[in-house]
Amino acid sequence: MTTISMLIDGQPAQAEGGRLFERRNPLDGSVATRAPAAATADALRAVDAAARAFPAWAATSPGQRRALLLKAADALGAKGAAFAEAVAAETGGSAMWAGFNVHLAQGMLLEAAALTTQIAGEVIPSDVPGSLAMAVRQPAGVVLGMAPWNAPIILGVRALAVPLACGNTVVLKGSELCPATHGLIVQALQEAGLPPGVVNYVTNAPEDAAAVVEAMIAHPAVRRVNFTGSTRVGRIIAEVCARHLKPAVLELGGKAPLVVLDDADIGAAVDAAAFGAFANSGQICMSTERIIVDQAVADEFVQRLAAKAASLPLGDPRKGPVVLGSVVDMSTVQRCNALIDDALAQGARLLCGGKADSTLMPATLLDHVTPAMRIFREESFGPVKPILRVQGVEQAIAVANDSEYGLSAAVFGRDAGRALAVAQRIESGICHVNGPTVHDEAQMPFGGVKASGYGRFGGRAGIHEFTELRWMTLQTTPRHYPF
Ligand code: NAD
Repeated sequence: MTTISMLIDGQPAQAEGGRLFERRNPLDGSVATRAPAAATADALRAVDAAARAFPAWAATSPGQRRALLLKAADALGAKGAAFAEAVAAETGGSAMWAGFNVHLAQGMLLEAAALTTQIAGEVIPSDVPGSLAMAVRQPAGVVLGMAPWNAPIILGVRALAVPLACGNTVVLKGSELCPATHGLIVQALQEAGLPPGVVNYVTNAPEDAAAVVEAMIAHPAVRRVNFTGSTRVGRIIAEVCARHLKPAVLELGGKAPLVVLDDADIGAAVDAAAFGAFANSGQICMSTERIIVDQAVADEFVQRLAAKAASLPLGDPRKGPVVLGSVVDMSTVQRCNALIDDALAQGARLLCGGKADSTLMPATLLDHVTPAMRIFREESFGPVKPILRVQGVEQAIAVANDSEYGLSAAVFGRDAGRALAVAQRIESGICHVNGPTVHDEAQMPFGGVKASGYGRFGGRAGIHEFTELRWMTLQTTPRHYPF
């Protein structure tokens, strides 16, 4: 069991009155972490500290910020074992998943370090004689970042890396389900030598989330908000941000389609579908949530995918290497069981896996799913995935687009031109031809459309989100006025 602190102004901080909340291990119910249960006053102290640190941090040179972010990448990498332990204890994730998280999160810090010299503006021709007109990007101010538990290291780092590179200071609100995992990120940044107040860390009990979040968004120093989590909470965040006129990047739920066309390389499509559907037990926003396969190749594809899914190792991640560890909680099990019951009652066929009575859920595939079944529309966010058989390209596209979500997608086909044309017609922020739906790289514009949210993390797109674009002029000759 770990007891953690928040971080405010470079100092470990407790919540008002010493209040704590607990996170329990999803498998055995033992207490994994005790963390401060911030009151709104504590959260506002964190924003105040970030606001005080902002002028000096905004004035640092790109080289200084780059050096610190490079050190932070090293410090994060050095915590690989601690991250694996925290992930297994708090969310039941496998060591493979924790390792991948650390690797990509390091890449995000390295990319952010490189971006410090890419925050470019432009000179724009002015019609006013002697006016040198510029579009200049400046740090926005305090950025409030909120990250979920499911890819905890990647999404925690993503919430703050590009904002820091742009010269903003940050308050990270950790997930109630993995406060120690998110806390390790903040520790790594402190060890790298970030000045006090540049990164602050707030943890809260679940019942206080709404009040704590609203208070921070309302604070005048907070100029940008980013939130990764469910569409349900994303709508609340969007409404609160709108009320306070705060721009937000919202990375929300998904129901990613993987389309297998009649000319697909079946082996490649099977490997991508298995990886995309079952990595981290299907608890990834980009998880393959709908496998849409042309009837012409469906029998072979389904048989090979089911064989592969049935062979994936499942177990307690604290006892040895597995592909499927524990899912995050029993509510995931109940949700997935209900989706299986509904689909089977309406004529779907169970290919492998099935209902579970503990958080160790097997890889489960349902064939002959139709758009009338709940699992076609609702995020399983677990290892239970539907297969839909379609006739031809047009039906495949129509079924892929029949969703409120639009984050990631994939299309498999040997005729690359045809597959790309299909990809262009899919309504999603991200689409891969002949690659899995689960794919993220630090330098790519990552984000969704429709109910998957708006805004983009990553690379230059991230600079756009986390800077203020200002129009500035320098009058170099006497200016003519009409009176
Ligand atoms: P969640 O939305 O349930 O919780 C996220 C956070 O919202 C919590 O930590 C909580 O503090 C806060 N919250 C809860 N109620 C609130 C309220 N009323 N006001 C303000 N804040 C409140 O999400 P989760 O269960 O942590 O994560 C799973 C979801 O995240 C899935 O839907 C998944 O698809 C999505 N996700 C999206 C991406 C992406 O990049 N698009 C990545 C990972 C996960």
